[in-house]
Amino acid sequence: MKKTKSIVILILLLLITGVNVYIVLEYRQYALLAELEKTNAEIMRNIEYERQEMLIEAAHLFKGFFYEEALTRLNENPNLINDETRALEAEIHEEINNLVLYEGPIRHVFLHSLVLYPEFFFPGESPAPSGYSDYFAFQSEFKAILPQLLERGYVLYSIHDIVRLNENGVMERLDIYLPPDRMPLVLSKDDPTLHYGIGFANRFIIDEDGELATEVITPEGETIITHDGDVQLVLDQFVRENPEFSFRGVKGIIAATGYMGIFGYDLQTEESRRDAIAIVERMKENGWLFANHSYSHSRSVFWSPNTQVSDIERDTQLWREIMMPIVGETNIFISPHGFLLQGAKRDVIINNGFDIYLMVDFSQPLIIHDNLVIMGRIELGGISMMWFSNLLNRYFFDVESVIHPQRPRSTTWD
Ligand SMILES: [Zn+2]
Repeated sequence: MKKTKSIVILILLLLITGVNVYIVLEYRQYALLAELEKTNAEIMRNIEYERQEMLIEAAHLFKGFFYEEALTRLNENPNLINDETRALEAEIHEEINNLVLYEGPIRHVFLHSLVLYPEFFFPGESPAPSGYSDYFAFQSEFKAILPQLLERGYVLYSIHDIVRLNENGVMERLDIYLPPDRMPLVLSKDDPTLHYGIGFANRFIIDEDGELATEVITPEGETIITHDGDVQLVLDQFVRENPEFSFRGVKGIIAATGYMGIFGYDLQTEESRRDAIAIVERMKENGWLFANHSYSHSRSVFWSPNTQVSDIERDTQLWREIMMPIVGETNIFISPHGFLLQGAKRDVIINNGFDIYLMVDFSQPLIIHDNLVIMGRIELGGISMMWFSNLLNRYFFDVESVIHPQRPRSTTWD
């Protein structure tokens, strides 16, 4: 009897243990499955995240005319390819297939530094200091002009992708292929000295995050750091947000002079030269080119009736000695005060290696000689907005819609 009882207890124990083991095993399996499902979901989420990130990057490259780069990005990881990525790829191929040779005129606009605080120059009804009104665009005006240029179909284009010496040493116009509704636009920025004083940016700096920034002194005398204190930064920001405004990251040409330093640095010491070079390097990375805008920027050196060939020779040598180590070699000359040198005086420029000559000419010619290209530019500033508004309205933007309320309507041109 006792033996039977023991057996029954043993069987019961075995049963209980068996059930327990079963339950534990079941549970483990369930947990494993759940874990697996969770991991799978996570992998899928990660893939989707990577795919979306890739699509954003590829679309940004595509909009900025980096077609090959966008296609490469879309096909880097086979696991990410799906209908969505294939649709973008098809869109890129369609745009490439529909590019057309651009044969129209090539326009060129330029600016000086931006007026940040117009209230400082134009308080109330008092007569305005003429230069500040005539030769400068205000920050708010430039910011309003850019979206209109984009809307009209302009794409910032490099002068180096428009004209180049061919293998025989003869200058020729290069083929420009763009979508049918787009037009190339060259932009330049003159006199980046930043020695205008209060109301303008004080100098360019590299901020704590390693970004290009502007140091600005407010009318109250406070020094602040901004990221839109001059043409370069406003344009960089605009292209980051609207990559379709720039052909492969191109921005513009900076016309450097020597007589008052560059970007707020006087270039008198090793340290200030190093600071200026750091700014130059960063701007080049951001798509800016540099040009010789003469060393002296002097009317008497370049344009007086007594100007000698040797004066221009000396000025050009000074630019080469002092500015070239800062801004690097360039084949672009932007004439000070915008005129076109003639004869032996022009030859000085050509013989010093400058085969792209940019001047100011509102009829916007592009003249291609064998050894020199001459291109006219239009300033975006007070004079053009006051006196050539029809031309600006016709080709670039609606002047009345961008003009700052504090811009004086009468200038010294009256
Ligand atoms: Zn100038």
